[in-house]
Amino acid sequence: MKVTFFSTKPYDREFFRRLNEVYSFDFVFYETHLGPHIVNAVEESDAICAFVNDKLTAEVLGVLANRGVKYIAMRCAGFNNVDLDAARKYGLRICRVPAYSPEAVAEHALAMILTLNRKTHKAYNRVREQNFSLNGLMGFNLHGKTIGIVGTGNIGRAFARIMGGFGCERLAYDLYEDEALSTAGVQYVPLAELFSRADIISLHCPLTEDTKHLINAASLKLLKPGVMLINTSRGQLIDTAAVLEGLRSKHVGYLGIDVYEQEEKLFFRDLSQTILNDDAIQLLMSFPNVLVTGHQAFFTAEAMEEIASTTLMNLSRLSQGLEPENPAALLV
Ligand code: NAD
Repeated sequence: MKVTFFSTKPYDREFFRRLNEVYSFDFVFYETHLGPHIVNAVEESDAICAFVNDKLTAEVLGVLANRGVKYIAMRCAGFNNVDLDAARKYGLRICRVPAYSPEAVAEHALAMILTLNRKTHKAYNRVREQNFSLNGLMGFNLHGKTIGIVGTGNIGRAFARIMGGFGCERLAYDLYEDEALSTAGVQYVPLAELFSRADIISLHCPLTEDTKHLINAASLKLLKPGVMLINTSRGQLIDTAAVLEGLRSKHVGYLGIDVYEQEEKLFFRDLSQTILNDDAIQLLMSFPNVLVTGHQAFFTAEAMEEIASTTLMNLSRLSQGLEPENPAALLV
């Protein structure tokens, strides 16, 4: 089986090569994104392995199917960038990694909360300059605060468990209630109630038609003044222009984003020698109460190992006419 990878970095190649010892697939690694601009140059392959910012549009899938591609393996959980109807039309089988170390993402959400709250990033720089003043570093206790969790799937559940350990009151909103979480003290409430009661809101739902711009000018008005918003899910859950307005008016007290609406042109690259052609991110990064990380929430050794092993197992099973072990891994 020949597998062509897109959007790869040295760390992807390292994990996939190591775990391929069992399968001996042929790998071709591209660093570039997959999209209409490159798809005509793709060599014949049995499978494509793609990532969060690759564009698997109907046009791209059509060209790939014409070139003999049978399987698309997403090495991520989200699949908002894949046209599933087109995949069905072209007879492609598409799989993903539905759950890989959800704790990796949940722990990163916590890291963002603690950094924004206790300002350890500022303290680190200050102390290096022998400035031991505490002015401007005051935070708040997480104990007793109300956390709103939107989406209680694999990651939301892990995040809820963590925040329980901090002694927070936990509110949740999901299309489906998780009984085990309710039993453990998480209170499911309507979304508007979660928005109006939470001191910290963390987004863990997927990007769908319904969740696009879930945080917008109207919903921002429902949030508590000074709220902390955390998004480790997908950039388009937040209307960037609206949240910038919320930050300017101080209604949004803190913003932590690991994902960003226009991230495809920025994230996963070193642009330190470039002038960024994106005013919104420049503005966001200039606020002292905003923390941006470049889609790194998944990035732990444990998660990378699980992503590579599940992706290769999915491909191996599909090529033998079997379905992935986890039914949620098969998208089409
Ligand atoms: P999951 O499928 O296990 O859980 C998603 C939950 O969201 C489900 O319980 C679902 O019912 C719920 N949901 C769906 N629509 C909703 C809506 N309209 N309102 C509220 N809840 C809704 O997914 P997961 O593994 O927990 O991952 C969640 C998201 O995190 C993924 O979709 C992906 O976009 C993102 N993610 C980000 C990173 C990163 O590195 N930043 C890594 C992995 C996943």
